[in-house]
Order: sequence, then structure tokens, then C-alpha cells
Amino acid sequence: MSPCPKCKRPPDARDVVAELGMARCSACGETWTEVVAQAPPAGLKLHDDGERLVIVARTREVGTFVELVFMLVWTAMAAMFTVIGVAIWFLPFLAISVLFVCIGVYRIVAALVKVFGHRRVEVGRGFLRVFTGPPEREEVAVPLADVALVEIDAGSLQNHVVVRTRDGRRIELVGAGTFEGAGYVVAKVRGRLLVA
Ligand SMILES: [Zn+2]
Repeated sequence: MSPCPKCKRPPDARDVVAELGMARCSACGETWTEVVAQAPPAGLKLHDDGERLVIVARTREVGTFVELVFMLVWTAMAAMFTVIGVAIWFLPFLAISVLFVCIGVYRIVAALVKVFGHRRVEVGRGFLRVFTGPPEREEVAVPLADVALVEIDAGSLQNHVVVRTRDGRRIELVGAGTFEGAGYVVAKVRGRLLVA
């Protein structure tokens, strides 16, 4: 979101009222409006089934693809050396090449898990829950009554949507890219909290 038109101070998370697409400067009191994203940010899926809001974020990283390709080449070469090791039946050579195949397979599986990794946030039925996977496991579960604030934690590369609890905990929900994208998610979460 753009800086305050009066004092030029960049807005922080508590200045932004994302539902209304507006901000109020906590330094000088100026209010201004801005268009808020109408669609979910790239990489995020939001679905409200009337009882729960479900947000699914893919945790895809470019580095993981590079690693995956590298490890596929690595494993293919190690497999080739294993075949040679069997052909010449030279045991130390064979043992090392088999070890290299094992390392390759292990790293490929780890990279695949990261490539297809996801983060799921559920808001509703009394709780806010965060799951990560695969294999999917529950990371956080907070009673909705304990949620004090939903806000944007602004960063230079990625804006995160976070929740503050009444006992002072900070729970990260999802990374949403742009500030407007994060505002969209904040508005949806707040909307669900209001009717819950
Ligand atoms: Zn201001």
C-alpha cells in the first residue's frame, strides 16, 4: 500500500483496514483509500464452505527445481557406474556407486516433498489451525476466541499474513507476495472471524 499522502510515512500493518481497502495513518490521522486485490494472490487458494475458510498455499521454491534436476542427473550417472561396477565385478567401485545411488534417491524424494509441499490454514468451527505437509501434520491449533488480531507482516520480498493471540503469540498463516494480496487474505480471515 502507498505511503501516507500527508506525512509520507509508509503504513504499518495496524494502519490498514483491508476490508474497506483503506488505511489510516497512526502518526497524523490521515485516511486514504486504495484498490485492494479482488483475487487471491498467486500460489494461494481460498475456499469458504460456509463453516470454514480454507487457505492452501503451495510452498514451491525455484531452488528445489534446480536441486531436483541436479539430483536426477547425479542418480542417473551413479546408476550407470553401478551397471559398470556389476559388469567388471569390482566390489569397492560397486559399493561406492550403490551408495551414490542411495544418496541420490534420498535427495530426490526430499526435493519432491518440498516441490509438492503445502501449507493449509483452516479458520472456523471454533478453531484456527495450520497444517503443513506432506506428510500432513497439524502445526498450530488456536481457539478462535484467543485470536486478538489478524495483520500483515510487511517484508521486502514477501508480505506475510499473521495472527496475534491474546497471550502474545505470533502465528504465521501464509506468505502472500504483494501487500494488496496479503490485504485480500487478511480481509477474508477477518470476515470469517466476524461470523464465527
Ligand atoms: Zn500520516
